[in-house]
Amino acid sequence: TEKHSKIGGEQTLTVALRVRPMNEDEILMSSSIAHKVDDNMVILLDPMEDPDDILRANRSREKHFMFDYSFDSNSTQESVYEATTKILIGNVINGYNATVFAYGATGAGKTYTMLGMDDDPGIMARALNDLFLEMEKTSEDMAYKVTMSYLEIYNEMIRDLLQPSSGILDLREDAKGGVQVAGLSEVMARSTVEVMDVLLKGNKQRTQEPTSANKTSSRSHAVLQVTVKQQNRVRNVMQEVRVGKLFLVDLAGSERAANTLNRGKRMVEGAHINRSLLALGNCINALSDKNGSKYVNFRDSKLTRLLKDALWGNCKTVMIAHISPASAHFEESRNTLVYADRAK
Ligand code: ADP
Ligand code: MG
Repeated sequence: TEKHSKIGGEQTLTVALRVRPMNEDEILMSSSIAHKVDDNMVILLDPMEDPDDILRANRSREKHFMFDYSFDSNSTQESVYEATTKILIGNVINGYNATVFAYGATGAGKTYTMLGMDDDPGIMARALNDLFLEMEKTSEDMAYKVTMSYLEIYNEMIRDLLQPSSGILDLREDAKGGVQVAGLSEVMARSTVEVMDVLLKGNKQRTQEPTSANKTSSRSHAVLQVTVKQQNRVRNVMQEVRVGKLFLVDLAGSERAANTLNRGKRMVEGAHINRSLLALGNCINALSDKNGSKYVNFRDSKLTRLLKDALWGNCKTVMIAHISPASAHFEESRNTLVYADRAK
């Protein structure tokens, strides 16, 4: 398969890996097992095996993972944004849809990449900032309207993160097969600061539950949907309005329900998360199939139904897989690498 072509070209699916820095506990308790080989390849060492042995004999081929991009713990928010998402901005302005997913176990760095910090924003605010800049350049000829919505999918239920009082929202398909969340609020965004403010508030509304494995883990998928409407204003003819949608998705933790030693409610959550991540993997995998011979079933989960318009046809999809480099997280990291590898 072509793993080296760039997003701007013909390629519709791009898979990247980001390895976060070890935290203080990990530095004390673990060794680092994820090693970047070059801009595309990462090796994951099995902590149960002798690392020298593996490196010398090069014997475990399955422990080498290839990506379109790999980012190590020194990578900046800017470099991750520039390589994975910046190129999508022009497409969205011109009426195409695109999706960026952050995948990985709880604590692997998904929210850091997508939302980021107040003083070092992630992909969401950077993408909107670039959208504003691009639109300004052509604002004499074009009229634009940018709106954003922020929702979560928790146990197959959709909630508005910007207006939690709305309760559980329905997913509907209109006559043309377009997907809509009924009653979802839309916010007009103007500046990056405003965007970050809205997102940080929204994120506080996400369903986060303590589990036995982690202090807080996000059990929901958070979806930022940015809609750009563009209309030519110079010509006198009635111009068709172009609509482009950008979905930026902070997925629920991919660790399996069994790993968190949970019963009851937590088990049900795990089952829902597994189902939607599996459905997503299947859809992406089918779409990347060049013969188009595979059957794509978007109906398998709310997440894939919602994103149908942005995974179909002339759309670009980026998956950024996240891992901790610590030996304590070997199993999780390996599962993530295998999932991301299979998506191609
Ligand atoms: P997730 O959303 O996958 O559960 P987080 O994004 O919340 O994980 O990251 C867990 C912790 O690690 C947070 O304290 C976060 O600030 C930190 N972190 C994650 N990625 C990075 C990074 N690339 N650089 C510095 N700190 C990071
Ligand atoms: Mg998170």
